[in-house]
Amino acid sequence: MTTGARLAAIVRAGVALLALGAALSAHAQPAAAPAPAPTPMVAQQVSASAWYVQGESAMGSPANRNFISNAGFIDTPAGVVVIDALGSPALARELIAQVRRRTGKAVTHVILTHYHADHIYGLQEFKRAGAKIIAQRHGLEYLNSDTARLRLEASRTDLAPWIDAETHLVAADEWVDGPRELVVGGVKLLLQPVGPAHTPEDMVVYLPAEKVLFAGDIVFRGRLPFVGQADSRHWVAALNTVLAYDAKVIVPGHGPASNSPREDIELTRDYLVYLREAMARAARNMDPFDEAYQQTDWSRFEKLPLFHAANRMNAYNTYLLMEHEPP
Ligand SMILES: [Zn+2]
Ligand SMILES: [Zn+2]
Repeated sequence: MTTGARLAAIVRAGVALLALGAALSAHAQPAAAPAPAPTPMVAQQVSASAWYVQGESAMGSPANRNFISNAGFIDTPAGVVVIDALGSPALARELIAQVRRRTGKAVTHVILTHYHADHIYGLQEFKRAGAKIIAQRHGLEYLNSDTARLRLEASRTDLAPWIDAETHLVAADEWVDGPRELVVGGVKLLLQPVGPAHTPEDMVVYLPAEKVLFAGDIVFRGRLPFVGQADSRHWVAALNTVLAYDAKVIVPGHGPASNSPREDIELTRDYLVYLREAMARAARNMDPFDEAYQQTDWSRFEKLPLFHAANRMNAYNTYLLMEHEPP
């Protein structure tokens, strides 16, 4: 090989390497990647007549359509009872279509587990379809609050185009004060208020004939709970109440349904108890929050999804709570 030919070969090899490098980096970081496909809505059956759809374990975003919470439905001879309305009108329309496809029936009732944005922004579609909406009476406080109004306003930007100027808050047709038995098409449901826990208006729905419990956000599975301004003392008590149901299946507000309700309920409870003990100690000693947070051993919970998104805020809210809660 002449010097010239060798040089040409080296140049060709170099060009090939550059091309390979470009291909590799293009693979790692596509220039104009399409947004990841949103999680499809798939109805999963958990008992003879109970189903649910599962949202992503994530914060709400335009990419996930605010499909971050679950909704359940129960097929009865007289129509379908839905539990929670999902996080946008578009998701609600999709759920109504799924219900129709699976059961051939219309939605007659929607029972809300609580008034949080990701569980209620679909309500207007169920209302339009003629369903009766049932919620615990303390939901009225949220409906009439600045928090609700400002959150919706912000969501019209943050969750566009899924939440828009047409999206509005919807009041229940029936406000429940205490335990209520609802019979639809001969199928008995128990509506049990358990708040104040995750929210003042928490309500669980139990289908005793099939031992299925729709627990809303008082039981989290597969992710760290979002504590917010919760009354965690009463929440722990609510979890003990729910443990007393002999549920075989639990459909939580987020994450997959569970065939081991006891373990999941206990994990949520143990997390709350741990938060409360650690933060009560700090508040009692008047340790500054940052220091107390650093010194707390979070190893049991830090592997859970959303730990990094939620734990510090949960701890901080609990710290504030413990400063004011009588011992
Ligand atoms: Zn919630
Ligand atoms: Zn939720």
